[in-house]
Parts: sequence; structure tokens; C-alpha cells
Amino acid sequence: MTETRTIAEIASYHAHIYYDGEAERQQAEWLRLRIGERFRVRLGNWRDEPVGPHQQAMYQVSFATGIFATLVPWLMLNHGGLSILIHPNTTNPKRDHLIDPIWIGRALPVKGDILPDDDEAEEALEVNTEPTLGA
Ligand code: ZN
Repeated sequence: MTETRTIAEIASYHAHIYYDGEAERQQAEWLRLRIGERFRVRLGNWRDEPVGPHQQAMYQVSFATGIFATLVPWLMLNHGGLSILIHPNTTNPKRDHLIDPIWIGRALPVKGDILPDDDEAEEALEVNTEPTLGA
């Protein structure tokens, strides 16, 4: 038997909200506004071009572990058909994105080979709980 991992490994979470084309971008905008109104999260910049391991346009929502139980079910009911990747932030970004995430909507390919698979996750310590609609 292997040792169990504990949720204390999880410093925070990201939700990556993907869109493709104008109609989905508008859906993503609708969702972004409503997330910003309701949850103490940080909304990342619009990424209209693929960036990092993400092969489709998206924006990132960073949130503290305490937000998970309200935000994630809310996204399940309100994603409007968009694909959303939700991954933990531990010390292993490759595992976080490829092995351990959950998807809402249709799962999309993630280019994991460019992600580090050891303790190089500077993002992991970034816990953002201030609500903002910036950028
Ligand atoms: Zn992420």
C-alpha cells in the first residue's frame, strides 16, 4: 500500500475556463461577471491565445481551498456548456494538471509535457481571496 496524500498538500486551486469562438467568449464573459459578484476569487487575464499547457483560449480563476465547496458546485450548474479545468496547486504542476484535475463539461487536451513535475510551482503558494473584476 502506498501512503495516502493529505489535502494539506493543496495550497490553492485554479479553475481554467475555456472558450472557443465569439459565442463561447460571450458565455465566458457572462460567467466571469457572475463569479466576480459571488465569490472571493482572483480572476486572471483573458488569454485569447493558447498559453502554457492550455491549448485553447481561457482565463484562470484562482481560489483558496475554503471556496471550493461553494464555487465548484456553482460552476457545475452554471458553466453553460463551457469546458472548465479545475486543478489543485501542490508542488507538482504536471501532476496537478494531468493526473489529478477534475473537469466540468467536456475534457480538453492539456499539453502537460512542458510542465515541471517537481517542486517548481511558484504559483502554488499564491492564495488569492480578494474579490476583483480587474483585467
Ligand atoms: Zn492553473
